[in-house]
Amino acid sequence: MLSWSSSRSDNIDREGSLTTASIAELLRGAPLFRDCAPDVADKVAPHVQTAHASAGAHLVSAGSTDDSIGVLMRGRASASFVDLRTGARTQLYSIETGDHFGEVGALLGESQPHDVVAEESCVVLVLRRQAIDQLSAKVPAFSQALAASLADRLRRSTSRPPPAPSPGVANADRSALQRSGAAIPFVRVSSYDLIDAVIEMVPAQLIEQHRMIPLELRDQVLTIGMVDPFNDVALRAVQRVLTHAQPNVVAISQDDFNSTKRRLKIHTPTAQGRREQRIDPNLIAFEDAESKRESERALQQAGEQVVTLAAQVVAAALERGASDIHLEPIPRSIRIRFRVYGTLSEWEQSVQPQLARALVARFKVLAGLDIAEKRRPQDGRISVRVGRRRVDLRVSTLPSSEGEKIAMRILEASTMLRALDQIFVEQRTLSAIRETLQRPYGAIVVAGPTGSGKTSTLYAALHERQTVRPDTNIITVEDPIEYRLDEITQVQVNHSIGLGFAEVLRSMLRQDPDVLMVGEVRDAETAQLALESAMTGHLVLTSIHASNAAAAIQRFENLGCDTAIIAQSIALVLVQRLVRRLCPRCTVLAPVPQLMRESLVARGLYPSGASTPLPRAAGCEACDDTGFLGRVAVVESLQLTDPLRSMLMANRPLDELMTFAEERDALVQFPRYASFLMEQQLIGPAESLLAVAT
Ligand SMILES: [Zn+2]
Repeated sequence: MLSWSSSRSDNIDREGSLTTASIAELLRGAPLFRDCAPDVADKVAPHVQTAHASAGAHLVSAGSTDDSIGVLMRGRASASFVDLRTGARTQLYSIETGDHFGEVGALLGESQPHDVVAEESCVVLVLRRQAIDQLSAKVPAFSQALAASLADRLRRSTSRPPPAPSPGVANADRSALQRSGAAIPFVRVSSYDLIDAVIEMVPAQLIEQHRMIPLELRDQVLTIGMVDPFNDVALRAVQRVLTHAQPNVVAISQDDFNSTKRRLKIHTPTAQGRREQRIDPNLIAFEDAESKRESERALQQAGEQVVTLAAQVVAAALERGASDIHLEPIPRSIRIRFRVYGTLSEWEQSVQPQLARALVARFKVLAGLDIAEKRRPQDGRISVRVGRRRVDLRVSTLPSSEGEKIAMRILEASTMLRALDQIFVEQRTLSAIRETLQRPYGAIVVAGPTGSGKTSTLYAALHERQTVRPDTNIITVEDPIEYRLDEITQVQVNHSIGLGFAEVLRSMLRQDPDVLMVGEVRDAETAQLALESAMTGHLVLTSIHASNAAAAIQRFENLGCDTAIIAQSIALVLVQRLVRRLCPRCTVLAPVPQLMRESLVARGLYPSGASTPLPRAAGCEACDDTGFLGRVAVVESLQLTDPLRSMLMANRPLDELMTFAEERDALVQFPRYASFLMEQQLIGPAESLLAVAT
């Protein structure tokens, strides 16, 4: 910052020794004033401020909105920019005595494109915007000198990446830009007229995760402001969703991103919308696992601050509808992250370093763990009450080189226990599940990413089977047991005593079960046992990590299962992804922008050439102006019919199998389900694209 009065620039302070006369003398020698009449410098001198900067000080910070010009009177400085991904600093040009800098902000009113850093102790004369404007108006020679130097510098360093003709070329251009060391321009979000329809094209999840703001759409060129403009992963994610967009990346500051996000009320969904927001940490009541005396002792050790902090962490997690809380030791402090909707993001509130250890100890005490044991992993559980809400935290510790890492899974009855027809709103999918649940044997496989509600689906299916066929003996093996179900035998996997999924499953089979639920298939032995059980008179419900139906089948193959066994055992594969559900109170139908329409058509979500409006969230009080309330599953389902079983046993290629299945309605893929949800006005186009693209 070119400001001697700025408290943020500690290295720059007022240099009192220069008189107006000596300043005028110095100005006359500067290139900027060389062609001006001698009295110009005399007139300017009283309006100039003098600043002193020590070596390494930032005279100008990239991205700042500083609008003054500095003239270097003593010392040496250089303009440079930092590659935000690698942290490498690239020097652009050096600034010698008499040179000026900062004119981009002063003349163009734009954010400063570069850092200007003092190489050694410097004295700088600062011309404020007002003085520059007056000078420019009155002294043509001055403005000409300024314009000439500006043009020269722009040519040398701030080449804006031109809108690329196609996404593929956009990537190539960016790589070339990075290699050449040219700067991606810094912009202020306020210099764009943000339009809701443009912002809504990019799902909020991507905006939050990759810290980006869609700024402007001209034809196919989507200008995106990114805090990390070299984040190619983010760019690819946008291109997957908006297949026809040509991204033009500009850089924005973190502050600008934060304030824009707040202003536009962009945030990732919470599990239940408004009711989950704003939780008073004072309402958080932990039920201590240890004896009262023990916890009081720990409380004294930790202090009141830590007790409050622990409650704040849990409140913040619940507010966000997080599924997990991570406490990760970093050098001299601790990092707290929440997994929301499958994505980890850091808590914006930082923890005082001296509280880090005590916070870990606090959670260990609450979970009934041995706080002295820091070298072995431990597991425990914390019960939390928030008013009438009851939440369980399943706590596990892991010793790491920096200290103990704590992960807490948030388990809540109200989100765990939902009816099948609440989860699967599409009738044909629901019927397929209900039909399969009536069968005496076969496997139902639920797939999807972490946090997509697989366990809720398994519980809902078990509950339905139990209701329809009360004569059923149901046993589950889970890791963890997320919710206690009535009249169902649930077994917790315990690796520390060698009780894995496979071991429990083998014992379960001797207990004469009708229905088996295997929480997750992660290894070959469990996969084999689960499918064999499904072939021998048991209905088996399980989940597997796979992103679509074909991948789920393939996963079993990769785990060593014979295709013959897969073909004879699996009855139904369900793959689910959760997206934000539109608020039913304020959803309206709106025309779809061209770019969005093309992307939707490309993904099979919209008929080519059509112009029917699609649902859009307007925002109301019920949804806290976000337009969204809760989440809904987008589902892909595959029923293994007899012809499909034959094809699988004959080792036909999977894609051939899938095409065959789709033609005969045995396979309903994500786009069809997402289109249905859009027709029902349950989800909007951006969420549909997100569901089918990832
Ligand atoms: Zn609403």
